[in-house]
This record gives sequence, structure tokens and C-alpha cells, in this order.
Amino acid sequence: MTEKLYIYDTEKRMKREFVPIVKGRVGMYVCGPTVYGDPHLGHARSAITFDIVFRYLRHLGYKVRYVRNITDVGHLEHDADEGEDKIEKKARLEQVEPMEVAQYYTLRYHDAMRALNCLPPSIEPRATGHIIEQEELVKQILDNGYAYESNGSVYFDIEKYNKKYHYGVLSGRNLDDIINESRALSGIGEKHNQADFALWKKAQPEHIMRWPSPWSTGFPGWHTECTAMGRKYLGDRFDIHGGGMDLIFPHHECEIAQAMASGGHEIVNYWMHNNMVTIGGQKMGKSLGNFITLAEFFSGNHPKLTQAYTPMTIRFFMLQAHYRSTVDFSNEALISSSKGLERLLDAHKALGRITPAGADADIRLSHIDELRRACTDAMNDDFNTPIVISHLFDACHTINQITDGKATIAPDAIEALKAVFADFAFDIMGLQDEAASNAEREKAYAGAVDLLLDIRRKAKEAKDWATSDRVRDELSRLGFEVKDTRDGATWKLNK
Ligand code: ZN
Repeated sequence: MTEKLYIYDTEKRMKREFVPIVKGRVGMYVCGPTVYGDPHLGHARSAITFDIVFRYLRHLGYKVRYVRNITDVGHLEHDADEGEDKIEKKARLEQVEPMEVAQYYTLRYHDAMRALNCLPPSIEPRATGHIIEQEELVKQILDNGYAYESNGSVYFDIEKYNKKYHYGVLSGRNLDDIINESRALSGIGEKHNQADFALWKKAQPEHIMRWPSPWSTGFPGWHTECTAMGRKYLGDRFDIHGGGMDLIFPHHECEIAQAMASGGHEIVNYWMHNNMVTIGGQKMGKSLGNFITLAEFFSGNHPKLTQAYTPMTIRFFMLQAHYRSTVDFSNEALISSSKGLERLLDAHKALGRITPAGADADIRLSHIDELRRACTDAMNDDFNTPIVISHLFDACHTINQITDGKATIAPDAIEALKAVFADFAFDIMGLQDEAASNAEREKAYAGAVDLLLDIRRKAKEAKDWATSDRVRDELSRLGFEVKDTRDGATWKLNK
């Protein structure tokens, strides 16, 4: 850990040298998905951003505890504490239990993240599993006088808080503007001030997701879970808190207020936020018809898509932009990314076939040391992956020159170059050669699938259509495409 890493801190509005609170260890909390719908590009962007942070900190030798929560309660239709719970609404429409909705979309999220090669977090706590901790937080804030009870619900008293602390430190807003904005939205209702936010909500009779509390049978406000769970798993002060930029206000602003009001000091040392994703220059939205889920990208099954894109193409495309810049998706840009990724992987493969020249070759160890230095500097400058990629593209150019016989490389330089690819392309940026891993999977399954197809052939000969159809249908469900040809059945593994 001799490297100096600089992280852009959203709250301080500048890059700061990263110094962990405990030497050699990092605590990182990232706001995870609200599990009521299929994961989309916004989920992928945030997960990939913090996967890079996680991977790079580990590469630097830190022991990282990475906590990413699952929001399965309290996220209401309108973020301003009103409306139906998003998960409960989905459950009502589909006539299932709210927890079935949460479980289904949690698994969908895990599948998509695995495909994108995002490492799983160290801890993945659920909001519904931490109601007691959230109630404890509400009690502390009430005891300290920064909240009030109203008709069974508990609200955070922003005006009182703002007299001692500053509400708006993260978003850079001031309280008058916030009050004016929120007043325009709706009436005050049971709140003292429209800008106050719910810490605990009394459940209406039709509300299913409810827990007992000293104030009412109800449910926690959306913002309480991250403060309560972050503190529980990472302690009273931890290093990094991340999430999408859309969470800066109100979610993270409210988290800061809750931490100050309950513990008297901030919990988070560095606030990090990834920028948003647009599609064809527009914000993604169901009403615009450009809302594309990750599964739709992977299958190509959406009117706006001209083809399917592999998870690695999506990952590579996102890494070609800095995480604090917006990323605009289009078919053209994705196709070009897919070609770029192929170029990188091809050059890496060619590297394994190069015959080294002598010690006086054109490309020597010192050149590769410079390349490694440049990649490291880019990562240390607030995780600048597009710069790392451009350095790797330069290396591809060099590799192609060597394979074309236009340049020579020394033996130790080849090994060093392989190590640069292993570290930066695969370990830190998490890229994968999907075609190679698919071929390996096919090889592993070959014996079993061939055996099943042989059983199917015999069933067909015996006119046992039920068995023969069942084998084909089950294989297809598991991702094996079976084709009957004149010479018997062939198969391949779909992505
Ligand atoms: Zn959160």
C-alpha cells in the first residue's frame, strides 16, 4: 500500500487521498437494489462502479468488508413518504406474498450481477431483517430531540436539526429551497414541516408489511435502513459509502442527518456516487419506451435493440466511461465496444503465442514497467478505467506489431506484459473471455448431454414420444439448444 489513491468525495467536492480509518482495512457500504423489478442498466452501472472499487482496493492489499443491502421494504411509490410500498404493490398486482416478489427479484439481480462478473459483497443485509436496529435508531433520534411522533408515525425534524447542524451538506442545497420545493408538491399533513421525512410510518389497514413498534404497528422509513445496517456491520465510522447520483438527495442527505442526530458525528469518510445511464441521449423511463432490462440486453429481445449484447460487452462499455460521467447507450456504441473488447482479448491470446527475441529486443522490460505505472496512475486517479483501457489498447497495438514481425520483444517483457493484462484487464476491471468460458462449459457438459441425447434417440425408436420430448424440453429449459438433423441430434449451449 505504498500507492497514493485519490477518491472524489461528493461531500467535500474534491479528490482526497484515500486514508483508511483502520490501517490495512476498508469498510464500504453501497446502496443496493429495491427488489420489485428486473435489474436494468442503472443497477449494472452502480454495481460495476463499486465492483471496481472493491477489486482495486483488494488489489492494493486492503482487507475490504463490502456491504451492499437489499431494500425489501419502505421504498414507497413517491419518495416523499407517500404512496404504496413498491414491493407490496407488485405483490398485489401479481397476487403473491411481498416476500415472494423480493425473493424473485433478488435472485434475478444476483443472476445478472454474476453474468456481469461483479463479485458478491461480503455481507448483503435485507432491510426487513433489521427492523429492530432501525427502531433503535428512531429511538435514539427521538431521545436526542430531532424527531417527533405524529399520529403513530415518527418524522425527522429538519428545522430543529438545521439549527445545530446543516441539512444539505451533501447535495449543496439549502433548507429554504428544499422547503419551497416540497411545499409545491403537497400539503403538510401530519408533518410539522413538509421537508420532514418519515423515520417510522404507521401502517394503513390495507398495508401488509408491518411490524410492532413503540409508536404504532408500521414500517420503517426508507432512509433508516442504510444508517442502521451500515453502523451494525461497519461500525460507527467507516470509510466509503456509495450509490448512484440519484441517491444523493434525499436518500444520502437524510442518512447524514440521521447519523448526526443519533450519534453526533458523521459515519462516512468518503461519499462516492456514480453517474447515470441514458439511452439514445434520453433518461431511461417506461413512458419513453426505452426502458431496457439487462435480461433484454443479453437476449436482444427489445424493439430498440438491433442485436443481443453479452454481459461482458455491457461491462466493457461502462468501463470505457469514467464512473462520474454519464454513459449513453446506443446500438452503434455497444457494437463498437464489443469489437474493442474482442481486440483486447485477441491481443491477449496472441501474447501467449509470441516467440521472444533476445535481451536487445525493441520492447524491453522497462517499456512494460512504464505501461504498468501508467495503468496504476490511472486507477489511483479516482478509478479512471477509460485511461487504463486506452493504455491496454496501446499494448494491443504493440502486440500486433510483434505478431506482424514489425517489432521484437524480450522474454522478461513478455512475462511482464502478461502480468499487466492479468492484473488490470482481468483482476481489476473484471473482464472475462466469455467465448472461452462457454467453450469450457460445453466441454464439461458434453458427456452428460450426449448421454441424454442417446436416451432420447432410443426413446424415439421405441416411439416413446413423451420421454423424447421431455429430454429436449428440459435441455432447452437448462439452456441447451437441441437441433435434429439427418445425421442425428446436435446441441449447443446458449449464453
Ligand atoms: Zn441506501
